[in-house]
Amino acid sequence: MIKNKSDHSTIAEFNKERSLKLTSQHYISLEDKYGAHNYHPLGVVIDRGKGVWVWDVEGVKYMDFLSAYSAVNQGHCHPTIIKALTDQAQKLTLTSRAFYNSVLGEYEEYITEFFGYDKVLPMNTGVEGDETAIKLARKWGYTVKGIPENQAKIIFAEGNFHGRTLGVISASTDQDCRDGFGPFMPGYEIIPYNDTDALEQAVKDPNVAAFLVEPIQGEAGVFVPDDGYLKKVEEICKANNVLLICDEVQTGLARTGKMLASDHENVRPDILILGKALSGGAMPVSAVLADDEIMLTIKPGEHGSTFGGNPLACKVAIAALQVLKDENLADNANNLGKLFRTEMNKLVNKYDLLTLVRGKGLLNAIIIKPTKDSKTAWDICVALKENGLLAKPTHGDIIRFAPPLVINEEEIMQAVEIIDITLAQFS
Ligand code: PLP
Repeated sequence: MIKNKSDHSTIAEFNKERSLKLTSQHYISLEDKYGAHNYHPLGVVIDRGKGVWVWDVEGVKYMDFLSAYSAVNQGHCHPTIIKALTDQAQKLTLTSRAFYNSVLGEYEEYITEFFGYDKVLPMNTGVEGDETAIKLARKWGYTVKGIPENQAKIIFAEGNFHGRTLGVISASTDQDCRDGFGPFMPGYEIIPYNDTDALEQAVKDPNVAAFLVEPIQGEAGVFVPDDGYLKKVEEICKANNVLLICDEVQTGLARTGKMLASDHENVRPDILILGKALSGGAMPVSAVLADDEIMLTIKPGEHGSTFGGNPLACKVAIAALQVLKDENLADNANNLGKLFRTEMNKLVNKYDLLTLVRGKGLLNAIIIKPTKDSKTAWDICVALKENGLLAKPTHGDIIRFAPPLVINEEEIMQAVEIIDITLAQFS
């Protein structure tokens, strides 16, 4: 409260000083000074989001073509999800799993019926989902398949990305993920992606418990395998009593034009990992789904997480899944993804700089002609930002385009125009 003139002038000065501080540069400097330097963000400070759009602290509006790495499939701050979040937040947020809570069972019933599995194991981040799946596969390997103790092997694909824990970077073939973090986890074998002959060879080892694979490799640069790859993988796994684990943390939840990317080939993984958009970006929520033969191999006390299955996350996840269904976001991703690739192919023909567009649904990437310093993709993303569209390069010469799935045709065409104008600046 302003009590006298001097108070008032102090407040005015404070506000003036404060408003001077509230520039993007101020926030960038704060992060730079006080935060670990484990990311290299594009120079935009986002303050607010709605649907496909975000605004920076200066009030400049951008289309979000990254969607928090596909966590915001339902669009920023979807009202149904935010309502579920705020309603539950006022009632009960966390009990831990030391006690039952009145929401977890409802969520477990909802998600298992949604995806057609006997059981779910709730976790928080995507990488925890992967870790859980690996542990489940090992446990199943020992207790059901009969693999001798400590001999279980998990197969991974080259170019994979499953997160950042030691357990999964041990399977990474990306030196940036691994350098300086060894020693690594034993019991893994890495085979080329999109190579069923290599899988056939690898599963001959009777100690193989599982093959963990992304139906499309997202972080590697949106690598779409050949048609029929995943179906053949499923057949090989079945024939050899090896579990198929699909990491659908990025490809799942309508992103690629079906509820799951594995649905494109009518594949039903033995273990399904979900994350990211399972909360519509509201909080970390991940899940591992499997049938009883696998899931019940883990007994009380053998795995868990303080926050996994918390009532807030459960309500948010139900709302997030319901929105995907109610708003037909898989169909929208499928239809607008086709339009987007058609338009990008026109740009591939128009600009020498572009070599290729690839993807499925609204998970797409354009490939920039490699340059010596691999900087062009970064420079293009900086220019895209200046022109009102946010995207981020992966691996130097690849730019991923993954807008929220609530995007409409007009907005897609607006994005195409921005990309066109931006590429013209580099040609
Ligand atoms: N799995 C895949 C396929 C991913 O793309 C990612 C993240 O990008 C993860 C797992 C890890 O998810 P999180 O960052 O939530 O741990």
